[in-house]
Amino acid sequence: MTTPDHLLHDKLRAVQTRIAAACAASGRHAQSVQLLAVSKTFSAEDVRQVAACGQRDFGENYIQEGVDKITALHGDAHALVWHCIGPIQSNKTKLVAEHFDWVHTVDRLKIAQRLSDQRPAHLVPLNVCLQVNIDGGETKSGIAPAEVLTLATEVAKLPRLALRGLMTIPDPVEGFEAQVALHAKARALFDEVKVALNLPQFDTLSMGMTGDLEAAIHAGSTMVRVGTAIFGGRTYVA
Ligand SMILES: *Cc1c(COP(=O)(O)O)cnc(C)c1O
Repeated sequence: MTTPDHLLHDKLRAVQTRIAAACAASGRHAQSVQLLAVSKTFSAEDVRQVAACGQRDFGENYIQEGVDKITALHGDAHALVWHCIGPIQSNKTKLVAEHFDWVHTVDRLKIAQRLSDQRPAHLVPLNVCLQVNIDGGETKSGIAPAEVLTLATEVAKLPRLALRGLMTIPDPVEGFEAQVALHAKARALFDEVKVALNLPQFDTLSMGMTGDLEAAIHAGSTMVRVGTAIFGGRTYVA
C-alpha cells in the first residue's frame, strides 16, 4: 500500500504536534519524548516519504517484512534506526540481531542470550527493552511485573546487548484517567528497576500508541510508538 506523500507529511506533523502539546500539558520538554513511527504493513516507499520529512526511527512487527524494508532502504541518504516491536521466536533471533538497532520485545532470557550471541561484532550492541505485561492480560506476551528485576539483572550482563528500558502494550481502556493509571504502573516499575540496576543507559520507557499517547506521555513515556495516526489504517492487524 502506498499513501500520497503530502498526506504522510501532514499526518507526521500532526502527531509531532500532539506529542509537543502533551509534553507541554505535563510540564515536560518536547525533546524528552521520541517518536517511533510504526510502519508495519506499509511499503518501503511510504517509509522513505516519512523519512524525507525528518523522521528517523521506525518500528516493525514482523521480522521478515522489517528486514525486507531495512534492506530496501539501506544506502539511502538518511540512515534510519530500526526497532523490532513484534514477538520474536528463537529461529528469528539471528535476523533480528543482524538487521535491527533496537528490540522492544525481549521477555525471556533465552531470547536475550541468543540476540547477544548473534549480534555481529562489527555492530554496536543491540539496544533492548524488556516487554512487561503491565495489565496482566492472560494471552499476552511480556513478563510479569514481579519478574522484571530478575530478568533485567541477567540481561544487563549480556555483552552484546545494551539494556535500555521497558516496553508495554496495555489493552485499550476508555478515558484519559484510566489510561494514565495503567501507564503510571509501568512508570513506577521503570523507576524501581532503574534505581536497583543503577545503569545510566536505562533511559527508555516505550509506551503509548495512536489512541493513548497523551496519557502515556503524562505518565512518563519516553518513546511513543505510533502507526495509524501517521500511516493510516492497516489492512491487517498485528
Ligand atoms: C501496531 C503497533 C503499534 C502502533 O499502533 P497504532 O495504534 O497504529 O498507533 C505500537 N506498538 C506495537 C507493539 C504495535 O504492534
